[in-house]
Amino acid sequence: TSQVEKRGFQAEVKQLLHLMIHSLYSNREIFLRELVSNASDACDKLRFESLDNAALFESDPDLKIRVAFDKASRTLTISDNGIGMSRDEAVNHLGTIAKSGTKDFFSKLSGDKQKDANMIGQFGVGFYSAFIVADKVTVMTRRAGLGAEAGVKWECSMAGDEAGEYTVETYTKAQRGTDIVLHLREGEDDLLSGYKLRNIIRKYSDHILQPIVMQKEEWDAEKAEQVLKDEDETVNQANALWARSKNDITEDEYKAFYKHVSHDYDEPLAWSHARVEGRHEYTQLLYVPKHAPFDLWDRNPRHGLKLYVRRVFIMDDAEKLLPHYMRFVRGVVDSADLPLNVSREILQESKDVDTIRGGCTKRVLGMLSDLAENEKEKYAEFWKEFGKVLKEGLGEDFSNKDKLAGLMRYASTQTDTPEETVSLADYVSRMKEGQDKIYYVTADSFNAAKNSPHLEVFRKKGIEVLLLSERVDEWAISQLTEFEGKQVVSVAKGDLDLGKLEDEEEKKKVEEQAEEFKPLLEKIKATLGERVKEVRVTHRLTDSPACLVVDEHEMGMNLARMLKAAGQ
Ligand code: ADP
Ligand code: MG
Repeated sequence: TSQVEKRGFQAEVKQLLHLMIHSLYSNREIFLRELVSNASDACDKLRFESLDNAALFESDPDLKIRVAFDKASRTLTISDNGIGMSRDEAVNHLGTIAKSGTKDFFSKLSGDKQKDANMIGQFGVGFYSAFIVADKVTVMTRRAGLGAEAGVKWECSMAGDEAGEYTVETYTKAQRGTDIVLHLREGEDDLLSGYKLRNIIRKYSDHILQPIVMQKEEWDAEKAEQVLKDEDETVNQANALWARSKNDITEDEYKAFYKHVSHDYDEPLAWSHARVEGRHEYTQLLYVPKHAPFDLWDRNPRHGLKLYVRRVFIMDDAEKLLPHYMRFVRGVVDSADLPLNVSREILQESKDVDTIRGGCTKRVLGMLSDLAENEKEKYAEFWKEFGKVLKEGLGEDFSNKDKLAGLMRYASTQTDTPEETVSLADYVSRMKEGQDKIYYVTADSFNAAKNSPHLEVFRKKGIEVLLLSERVDEWAISQLTEFEGKQVVSVAKGDLDLGKLEDEEEKKKVEEQAEEFKPLLEKIKATLGERVKEVRVTHRLTDSPACLVVDEHEMGMNLARMLKAAGQ
């Protein structure tokens, strides 16, 4: 049936459209980047599906994207001969936001246009950005492999910035793929220019793999204007940036590519590009962002690596390519060895992938070590955004424990401020004569850590103690038993053994007192009963009358409290 069907948008879509038009207007050019990126994704998908079904290419094997404009009708058209959409797909993909965590996402918007714009970008709601410049959008699409009569026309008009409904109807489309027609809003006519459009494409979409073509133009002296010729030209570089030689790539190109893969509006903090040869051959282009993505702490965060095999796009979010604690890294891995039909399931078990993962992990750690050593300010910036995540690595990645330990930064009694700036190496360099351990205390806030009674004797003796107060800390640091041959110990665990720092006289005094107070200790123990294991005299304290300690091999108190709160 060619019946026109009216449908309503999901409530979130309406909300998003409204927000987008308002907060992204100052970045309005990104609509083209988003639509071209969708067209490119559609071409990638076709190429990938055609590996199993060559017939999908029909008689049209050259994938490309076309951008055209029409001054008379005031429209822009972005076309591709990629995979296209069936009716169901059009309805599902263009009328709803299928991504998980949408609600969460809205709750994180701050009202600050610049910040929100960045979040919206990361969320990847590209298609709707068309409405920044258009008040009516018409999509004509036909899925590869279905007949011309299986085409669909989708259309949505907005009054002001309110869009409630869209229509879908059957539409005959000879060529597979998608045409998106933007009917420009008033005041957007500067976009009806080949010069302007070429500039935007080169700025945002130069690295797109498929050629982006436009009609050639020629100056007509009589009409005194540019006129379109019957001939196409490719506007972008149309090659895989990561496959080019490092020396041929400019900083700006690296940065533009980062914005493309990350959907971030900001520049990256650092990147690393390398071709790895040997048993497995692959290229990696890895970026560390400046800011944490909005979903960093979600249960299922987006992972930022795209996997290609010999430049054929395989998948987004390839979470197997990096450990979980590096989920903030963005970029591309292109393998020369994996089979083209590799699936997520195969990736789970592939030894090749383990090698790539090991290599990428080392590369990221190297990049971070380099920052920590040579660009301390940048590293401090990184630590503020991602330190908490990197700490997870101590428990997750034993093979890189030493490297990771070197990257850790903590607050300490040296500065007594909550800023995490002290490295274990700094700590070791300041250790007292005779000190052979690295001491830390954990608590659930910085102030609690700083004022912990366990610190009294350390402060008195001038021994530095690391002050740990983040949720991840206690668990993470307990995985780190030593650094540079020095034991890493909690000041609140076991029998406090200050080794050579111990004052012989003091020790004797404590022993004497233990004798003297024996009856008192027994009385306290009897009163507290089951609640304590032991009561003893200590030299830990100088001002406080008493404190709690746990056995050396038991769970820290903070962790125990957290598990209890979580109902374990
Ligand atoms: P994303 O690209 O992050 O998935 P978008 O809002 O940009 O989000 O696009 C939503 C969905 O619409 C895409 O995932 C895709 O399924 C579909 N889509 C958009 N444009 C095209 C196109 N040109 N060809 C085929 N499908 C498309
Ligand atoms: Mg998109």
